[in-house]
Amino acid sequence: MLNDTHRHVGKRNGLVKLLIEKGIRNKAVLKAIGKVPRHLFLDSSFEDFAYQDKAFPIAAGQTISQPYTVAYQSELLEVRPGQRVLEVGTGSGYQAAVLCEMGIKVFSIERQKELFDHTRPILTKLGYRLEMKFGDGYKGLPERAPFDGIVVTAGAPFIPKALVEQLKPGGRLVIPVGENVQKMKLLTKNDRGQVFQEEKGDFRFVPLLEKRN
Ligand code: SAH
Repeated sequence: MLNDTHRHVGKRNGLVKLLIEKGIRNKAVLKAIGKVPRHLFLDSSFEDFAYQDKAFPIAAGQTISQPYTVAYQSELLEVRPGQRVLEVGTGSGYQAAVLCEMGIKVFSIERQKELFDHTRPILTKLGYRLEMKFGDGYKGLPERAPFDGIVVTAGAPFIPKALVEQLKPGGRLVIPVGENVQKMKLLTKNDRGQVFQEEKGDFRFVPLLEKRN
């Protein structure tokens, strides 16, 4: 099942080239994308398409983010090996795996039990060591805070206060905000605790869920 071949490696190298053409510059991010076997995070019927720069459906009506989006959000975090990053929306586990490959200490929250139960063993089998939690990302992970970076991988209707609070001084929060189309927001907290906000382009994500369904 966990089969990674030369053919996959070749396709991954092609994906990395494409991401460079699309403007991704961070070497650690590109290297990680070149290593993570994305085809193993998808249903086998999508295997042939796994290294296209596209989002695909996963369980529970969710999607695995487009590689460009994963790379772009990872780049915006500007994190170094050994730093702590909280991901909201584990989904397929692909973004979490990319951060693990970058040497980041990853914490990831998923609020759909079906996905949480599906993804946890895949990440474990692939050897990615991270802390996964079944819960509500709006609350962050106070028991593990503060974080050097927080990345939200679903479209949020607003910026949850808890996430801003759980940033370290110098920390960065990358969060797509909006309903149909989201603005990628980058919030940075300075050493005095002041928070600054920038907009980093338009994206489309599945919604960050507010109520149990
Ligand atoms: N990072 C994922 C992207 C998955 S799509 C990947 O690389 O595949 C977004 C995910 O956010 C979905 O799995 C969805 O179930 C999850 N999600 C939605 N609302 C959430 C919330 N309030 N807390 C935590 N996870 C949430």
